[in-house]
Amino acid sequence: MEDCIFCKIVAGQIPSDIVYRDDRVIAFKDINPATEIHLLIIPKEHIAYLTDLKEQQASLIGHMILVANKLARQNGIDEKGFRVVINVGDAGGQVVKHLHIHLLGGKRLKQTIG
Ligand code: AMP
Ligand code: ZN
Repeated sequence: MEDCIFCKIVAGQIPSDIVYRDDRVIAFKDINPATEIHLLIIPKEHIAYLTDLKEQQASLIGHMILVANKLARQNGIDEKGFRVVINVGDAGGQVVKHLHIHLLGGKRLKQTIG
């Protein structure tokens, strides 16, 4: 989608530090990491909001979660624990309007729900 920064990353039009790719998703390092390990997992196709997902895309979001697990394992944080976050819409803090899962970990995270 035009003017979508994450679509541009998928297309290789802007640089990013890609750590994983397959036919449905890519994952890359967050440019402004909130903690030691901060990766973003995104679908290759443009889906703006979590709430745009259709029933047929249930396996896509499931796959994204499994990729988060895999990356947590690869980064050695699966056993001590980590966090996955999906911000949805303005009040949810979503800045980039292309669905993404934040994978956060490395050090103990603050309890910051709400
Ligand atoms: P959100 O607030 O959930 O929309 O999160 C968007 C995230 O994308 C933020 O953590 C940003 O630091 C990150 N981000 C924005 N632009 C880029 C980029 N070009 N490469 C990597 N991460 C980015
Ligand atoms: Zn997009």
